[in-house]
Order: sequence, then structure tokens, then C-alpha cells
Amino acid sequence: MIFLIDESITTLTGIGDKTKQQLNVLGIDTILDVCYYFPNRYDHYEQKALQELGQNEKVTISGTIIGQPNLTFYGKKKSRLLLHLQVEGITVKGIIFNRPYAKKHFEEGQTVTLSGKWDQHRLQITIDQYQQGTIQNNSPITPIYPLKGEVKNIQLVKLIQRVLDTYSIELEEFLPEEYLINYKLPPLREAIIEMHQPSSFQALKHAKRRFIYEEFLLFQLKMQFFRKRNREALSGNEVVYEEEKVKAFERQLPFILTDAQKKSLAEILADMRSPFRMNRLLQGDVGSGKTVVAAISLYAAITANKQVAFMVPTEILAEQHLHSLKEWFKDNIKIRLLTGSVKGKKRKELYESIQNGEVDVVIGTHALIQGDVHFKNLGFVIIDEQHRFGVNQRNVLRDKGILADVLFMTATPIPRTLSITAYGDMDVSKINQMPSGRKTIETYWVKHNMFARVVDFIKKEVASGHQAYVICPLIEESENLDYQNAIDLFTELTQLLAPNIQVGLMHGRLPSEEKDEVMEHFSSNKIQVLVSTTVIEVGVNVPNATLMIINDAERFGLSQLHQLRGRVGRGDIQSYCILLADPKGEVGKERMRIMTETNDGFLLSEKDLELRGPGDLFGNKQSGLPDFKVGDIIHDHRALETARQDAIDIVYQNKWKTEAYIPLVNKITSDTKILKDLLN
Ligand code: ADP
Ligand code: MG
Repeated sequence: MIFLIDESITTLTGIGDKTKQQLNVLGIDTILDVCYYFPNRYDHYEQKALQELGQNEKVTISGTIIGQPNLTFYGKKKSRLLLHLQVEGITVKGIIFNRPYAKKHFEEGQTVTLSGKWDQHRLQITIDQYQQGTIQNNSPITPIYPLKGEVKNIQLVKLIQRVLDTYSIELEEFLPEEYLINYKLPPLREAIIEMHQPSSFQALKHAKRRFIYEEFLLFQLKMQFFRKRNREALSGNEVVYEEEKVKAFERQLPFILTDAQKKSLAEILADMRSPFRMNRLLQGDVGSGKTVVAAISLYAAITANKQVAFMVPTEILAEQHLHSLKEWFKDNIKIRLLTGSVKGKKRKELYESIQNGEVDVVIGTHALIQGDVHFKNLGFVIIDEQHRFGVNQRNVLRDKGILADVLFMTATPIPRTLSITAYGDMDVSKINQMPSGRKTIETYWVKHNMFARVVDFIKKEVASGHQAYVICPLIEESENLDYQNAIDLFTELTQLLAPNIQVGLMHGRLPSEEKDEVMEHFSSNKIQVLVSTTVIEVGVNVPNATLMIINDAERFGLSQLHQLRGRVGRGDIQSYCILLADPKGEVGKERMRIMTETNDGFLLSEKDLELRGPGDLFGNKQSGLPDFKVGDIIHDHRALETARQDAIDIVYQNKWKTEAYIPLVNKITSDTKILKDLLN
């Protein structure tokens, strides 16, 4: 059966290229898209008694005008029209700004109906709309659509009306009846009509509920299908590692694993042994010891004669991991770095030794899974700081035919609501415990006028043999300013701390060789104070550094501050974090206070979510979070949880193979190849 509703909007009469383009800007391509283009709010003028009107609420009132309206001009083109009117025996003021011509519409003794914003304290309404007489019925609930470009609200209202009149008959229910009944959700056609032309707020509420659930269910289903597909059992995917060797390696480490590390390791190794493809996230706060868990797992892969790719977001982190692995493995396995600084002949040689299987582990940035790199026997991929990769990027590996086990790692603990959204396609292991003997990092918030004392504190820490980081303000709009800031601060501190203390400078613009050199000097304590931009945010591990100073700390999110703070307190020496900040608003102050009160990354991420919203949690650009249109993952978290559980049932109990579920599954993907994959 062919559905006209799936056709392009241009099949509608009167929609030519120009209108089509304007609608495309709103994301509307097909007639169905029109149906799903929902209002983001509704206007409704309902008359209520004066005492029921709330402060700043949009209200409608009727009354009789007393006295003459008074028009005054001020500024260049500004005017203010003041009316007095009698409403329920009380005198109320009405104000109309910048519409001087309105004066002639009001006369003493007239009855008028006014709509606008209500000021309860002044008994005053700022008028948007007015009409003569009283209104008989309350006005209809008017949809207000989110707009972009040239399309006007009224055009959309008319277009939608037309579409609904002709095509709503084609809106076929695809949610299985079971859910509609259980959750008392209105059927598709009815709900679409309610969204655009609400008959009552009650009905509208139910229609919205339906679309929130629908949106979450479709998303979660996709995630669960990906998860299932990514975990698919492959013959030959078993990694037959040598258990004794792995245990021996674990035993000779300079410390004993925490219980949480042991548990995560066991989960990873179980995935390896199984024919299922591992698609697992290792989540753990900064300093909880994820790297060593990764090291043991990768060693297991190597004992099974597999090669390992270890992917990281920055070169500094690549160096850092190389350093850690070298320390633990000595020369027993062959580890190579593939970064921008490996060039020309060296790079070619490296490619060769990867291809012929000489190299066991390659650590590098994105380049690792691209283009010229061919492995002889890639069996295990580790992706560190995975929050920088979204769902789609995660599927790239699978789509590229890399069927090796994949372990993702992240140091960003995120609230459960977000984690089931962002990571719903993965299995998750958590390290929710710090290695013993760690001292809590003492965090202080000070104003900028204390800078001199902060400098004294640096001197004191350095005098007792320790080191410090000084982080420059974050300038989001400009990378240039970021690095100029770093240079200025570096110059200032070099002077202030001369001659006994060596200061180093680190920022993203330095050539790789210089970055390596600076980190090397900091690691070996040739430099005692490192001035840096946020490039050192993740992964850097210099246990002798005990002091973290963050400039203009109010500009960072809590999770990011926590990451930065995690650069110290990595050994058993008492460490400190100083937040230099003069936040203006209450929220800013609250954030600084929270930082001084807790070291728990999980708690901080929840607070961050509360204070700043989900977009900011990972940094706006690559949140890895989908953009929901109707649902709000915070506000509607219960619907999200429900949808997730339903999706799991559908996928893992093979419900989707029954007829009632076919329309639903068809909504997930029209890719028949994927469907076939899934349907077997
Ligand atoms: P993460 O990557 O989770 O931020 P790391 O793996 O860098 O943390 O570990 C932080 C530090 O703790 C490293 O110096 C590491 O060697 C050390 N470490 C890891 N596990 C333990 C443990 N169980 N006991 C003591 N120290 C540990
Ligand atoms: Mg790490």
C-alpha cells in the first residue's frame, strides 16, 4: 500500500519550491513531518476572577473604562497609554506601550476585554490584545509553533489544518495496543489532532504524554537493537587468553586492585571469552584506576595473540598511557605510539610493523581506525574518554567491519537518566570506589584579590618538593584568547616565582614535540609549575603534583572542574584545589560552594545537570545526547525509564517478531539489511 502521507510536501497544491525550502528549514520534508511539527506552546485566554490571577501570568480580564485614557511620549519613538478600568468593583490599570493610535479605541464608560501580562502587586495589566465588549466564551487554545526563517505561525496553522483534513485518515497506529491500553495513551490520529487543535488542556496533556512515550520508545528501541547487533555472537570472536599469565601480571603490579576494579575486570574478561562482541563502557571517576583495568584486559588479548588499538582524544593522553603501560609492562610487550608527530619514514615503518603483527599495542588518536592502518589480527579496541564520541560515531567501528571487542572508558560519571540515554546501546561496568589511602583533595574558593596569597601558597608547596598546575580561564568563543591568556599568565608567574621555581607553559597550539617536552619536564620535576589551558583536562598523571589552581573557575561546568581537580590527589600526598572566582550570580556562587563541599563526581554531575541542563554536561558541541523534540529527559525521566524497560522487553523477549509489533519495528529502520540482520 502506498501512503500519500509519506510523500513530499510539494505534492500539496500551492506548495512550490520557495515554500518547500522555507519548510525544509523547519525540518519539514514530507506530509507526515507536517503532522509531527508540534507547537512549543499554546495561547489561551481564559477569564478568571481577579483574585485567581497569578503574578506575571498571561490573563484576560473585562471591565468598564473610567476616566480618559492618558497617552504620554518618552524617548524617540516610545509611548505609553494608561487606562483605568473597573473590574469586579476594583480599579485596575491597563498599559499599552508604543501603540499611540490605540487611544482612539477607548472611551470612558465602555466595556472592554483585555489580554496581557498581569502584575498582581500593582493591579496592572500590560496589554497585548484588546477588544470591545465582553467575551462570551473563553477563546480557543491557540497553538504557537517554533519558527525559523520566513514561515509565519498563521501559515503553519493553515497548512496543518489542510493536511489534517485530507491526510489524517492515513495516520496509522503503530504502537502496539498493549502499551496504549496500559498507559492510557490516545491513539495516533486523535493525538495528532489534539496536539494541533486541542479540545481541552486535559486532552492535550494526554496527547503530549503519548508523543513523549512514543519518542522515547523509538529511541530506546534503536539503542537496544544497536546493542543487540553490536553484541552479536560471532564464531571466532572468543579471545582465548592465558589465564595464568594474566593473573601473574596482576600480581606483580605495585598495588592490589580495589573490589570495584576486580568486578569490572571480571565483566570485561567474561565478554572476551564469549563469542559475543564486547561493546562495554567502563565508567569510573577520575583517579579510580580505569587505566590499569584496561591494561590487564589488553594484556589478556595479547596472550591470545591478538593486537590491541588504544584510542584517545589527545596526544598528551596518548603519551600518558604509553608511559603507564611501559611502567607496568617494561619491555615484555611491544607498544607503539601513532600520533601526529610520527611522520614520514617512521610512520611507514610503523604501519608495516602493525600490519605484520610485530606490534602488540598501538596507542593513538582517531587516525588509528582510519585509512592506512591495517592490523594483522586486531582483537581488542579500547576507546578512552568516550564521552567525546556520540552514538553514531560508536557505530562507525561496527560499520567499518571492525568486529573486535570494544571497551569504552569514561571518567565523566553521569546521572542515570543521562546514562541510559547516552549509553543505552552499551553494557556498563562501574568503578565506584577509589583506591585506598587516597586523601580527599581539599578545595578552596577564593576571590581574585587573594591572588598574591595563592602565589605564596604555590611557593610553599613547591618548597616542600611538590608541584602545581595553574589553569587559565576558558574562553569558549575564541581559541586565540585562550592561548593568549595562557601566555600572559605564564609570563606573570614566571616573574613572580623567579628565580627558584621553574614555570612551564602548555596549550593546544604547541607543536607535538614541544608538548611532549613540557610534559616530560613536568613529570620529572624540572618544571614545578605548569600553566595550561584545559588541554590537560583528561588523563594526565603526575602524582607529585599536589596543587591545582583554576582561574575564573565560574566559567567551567562542575564536571569539568572536577576533571581538572582530578589531576591532583593521584598519590598519597595531601592535595589542594583552589578555585579563583568572582561569580556574579547566585548559581555561580552555589556551584563554587558545591565544589568545595564534595569530591564525589557522581553527585557533582547530578548537581551540574540540575544547575545547567543536559547540554552543558559534556560541553555543548558533542554531547552525544539525542535531541528530543517532545520529551525532556529530565522532566519526563519516568517516561524514559518506562520506555527503556519496554524496549528491552521487546528486543530481548523477541516480542518484535509478533505481528502486532511489525509496524513499530518498521518505524525504527527502513534499512532492510539491518532488519534482516535483526530478524534472524
Ligand atoms: P583513571 O584513569 O581512572 O582516572 P588511573 O588509571 O590513571 O585513573 O589511576 C590513577 C592512579 O592510581 C594511577 O597512578 C594508578 O597507577 C593508581 N592506581 C590504580 N589502581 C590502584 C589501586 N587499586 N591501588 C592504588 N593505586 C592505584
Ligand atoms: Mg584514564
